[in-house]
Amino acid sequence: MSQRSPTLNPQVLRPDTPVQYVKGVGPRRAEQFAQEGIHTVEELLCYLPFRYEDRTQYRPLASLREDEWALTRGRICSVSGFETRKRRMSVLEVLVRDATGSMRLKFFNQPYLRSLYKPGLHLIIYGQVKRDAYSGTSLVFMNPECEVHEEEVQSTVHSGRIVPVYRKLGTMRTRTLRQIMYGITTQLPADMTDPLPEYLRRQYRFLPRNRALAQVHFPELGDSNRELREREMRLLNSGLSPAHKRLIFEELFQLQVGLHMIRSTRARVTKDRQVQITEPVRQSIKKILPFHPTAAQKRVLREIADDIRSPRPMSRLLQGDVGSGKTIVAAQAAIIVVENGYQVAFMAPTEILAEQHHYNLRRLLSPVGYPIDLLKGGLRERERREALERIRAGQTKIAVGTHSLIQEGVEFSRLALAIVDEQHRFGVVQRRILMEKGHNPDVLVMTATPIPRSLALTLYGDLDVSVIDELPPGRKPIETRWYEQEQREKAYEEIRRTVTAGHQAYVVYPLVEGSERSDLRAATEMAEHLQVKVFPRFRIGLLHGRMKDREKELVMSYFAAGELQVLVSTTVIEVGIDVPNATLMVVEHAERFGLSQLHQLRGRVGRGAAQSVCLLIADVRDNPEARRRLEVMCETNDGFRIAEVDLELRGPGEVIGTRQSGMPAFRFADLVRDRRALELASEEAKNFLARLRAGGDEECRQIASLIRQTLAGRYGWALVG
Ligand code: ADP
Ligand code: MG
Repeated sequence: MSQRSPTLNPQVLRPDTPVQYVKGVGPRRAEQFAQEGIHTVEELLCYLPFRYEDRTQYRPLASLREDEWALTRGRICSVSGFETRKRRMSVLEVLVRDATGSMRLKFFNQPYLRSLYKPGLHLIIYGQVKRDAYSGTSLVFMNPECEVHEEEVQSTVHSGRIVPVYRKLGTMRTRTLRQIMYGITTQLPADMTDPLPEYLRRQYRFLPRNRALAQVHFPELGDSNRELREREMRLLNSGLSPAHKRLIFEELFQLQVGLHMIRSTRARVTKDRQVQITEPVRQSIKKILPFHPTAAQKRVLREIADDIRSPRPMSRLLQGDVGSGKTIVAAQAAIIVVENGYQVAFMAPTEILAEQHHYNLRRLLSPVGYPIDLLKGGLRERERREALERIRAGQTKIAVGTHSLIQEGVEFSRLALAIVDEQHRFGVVQRRILMEKGHNPDVLVMTATPIPRSLALTLYGDLDVSVIDELPPGRKPIETRWYEQEQREKAYEEIRRTVTAGHQAYVVYPLVEGSERSDLRAATEMAEHLQVKVFPRFRIGLLHGRMKDREKELVMSYFAAGELQVLVSTTVIEVGIDVPNATLMVVEHAERFGLSQLHQLRGRVGRGAAQSVCLLIADVRDNPEARRRLEVMCETNDGFRIAEVDLELRGPGEVIGTRQSGMPAFRFADLVRDRRALELASEEAKNFLARLRAGGDEECRQIASLIRQTLAGRYGWALVG
């Protein structure tokens, strides 16, 4: 027999078949898909409908009501066309009839339809029923979606079923995409490798992968009972149908397996250094503490210290609300390392934050007097060279800088601990590069604000977690109120009351990129205005990012010493300033700030025993999201709660900034909606790896290697073990 010709043989599509071999996709469409990152059948199948329409039932023409969307059908009785005089529009009018009645369809500027819609043919019609603006009484379909057939048919790709609706892709609209998807889903091989192990599929009653993929595009009608169908539609449209759930779980499971693999790989590395916590080390730690640490701080420091002493490198996330005392714990960890003769790298996501950490660490660690260097952009060539030299020689004990500290190959003599003040900008991949530097430094990641657990599991699933879940004693919850612009007087009144009572206040202006100049002017003018017109007797200071370091430090130290009573500032004070006597925070243009920023700012007060107040001055007209942010701020001081709302309002992509963070992009999962599935997937991933370590069966091993491949392809993770 001769070789099989692929054209004669109905081609079976494999997941990795390039899209251009799919029926209905030529080189031009393949190009459009490629622009969306879709190259293979598998990737095309992951382009899910964003909603579904129930087009299972054909409605009798006589039953149609004004304004409803309906699927119906009928035989064409007559077709007529004319041009409007005014705007020279072509109008095609088609009359269709069924056993119950008739209905007119109007098509504008589609004259070619005339040659398709002939009397006697059958039309399937989907559209919105309208009252005809001209005749006034009769109902009509305007530009409905239609299919024309020789005979009456029961179901097609576009009707007689629940149909998927896709977002336009390139020039392809939903009907084109539907047609293409239909072609693929009916040709999927039955023997696709399933990346979920069978025991999990059985346990959770998950559909097999190929069926899930087919059903998520073309749901099989479970029941013709109307109530059940409506329920099914609700599930489909909220992405919670059984097919969706299966795909979501699979995606989360793979990611969690990958993250757990990273953890266990790191746990097999051995550090070649000895760190001990001797009595002198303990004394040094105590020296910097002006107070008793909270139980949570003690517990967390113990967790970190155990990691530092362990032969396995630390990969730990330190979480805690604003003001819970993370900085001190990090400083204590640094002391342990430095007292043992090693170096610490302290990294922040921006230069301003690095400067503030530098300022704080120097102050905090002044009792132990370590040499601390700040590496930043503005350094003169010589200063920079000398600092680099000190770091390489091991003279510098703590080097503070942005993430470039590690990325640009600054050489350390004995780097043992890297503290990353993270703010979500370091992804799994960057973190691994850092962890594999030099002699496997211990890595402590700190977040400035709490993050919801679902994000923590995803972003930091490769890390152990320590949480400071307790505020230092004697703190009173900060009272937060929100004023309109016109109520500014009330805020001034509060400033007056605060300063008169011997406390201090912040007034913060937003600094938005692009409009930096004018914002700067706003802060500067405001400081003047307050000093000259409003509070001539108070001492008011100004702080902004353009000031020289020495000026900034001077202003900060005056404020810290109580010599300035009001500090007007741009957001440079967002993180790090610590003046317990300051009990009032006024935020101007609060609508321009994100939730976590507002929470950070508010965290600058409430640091002493006195009652603190935060006033948000905002204009939220036409900005319901900003209004919601302010409401949440007034409702709660709980950073975890605020983080949850932030996630709900903005979605994970916005909260973290997917691109810069290395945050894995999801095809199916939604971290807000699928929180529970994520928890489950994380648990099951752990179990799965335990099975694998215990030898596993053939299927386990196959799936593990499939997951490695998938994650390498999707996220660039190189996983071993
Ligand atoms: P975070 O970095 O978590 O926002 P900080 O480390 O800046 O918090 O600490 C907030 C404030 O609480 C600082 O004024 C700090 O000195 C103080 N503080 C920290 N721990 C304690 C404690 N155990 N008892 C009293 N005050 C504390
Ligand atoms: Mg802090």
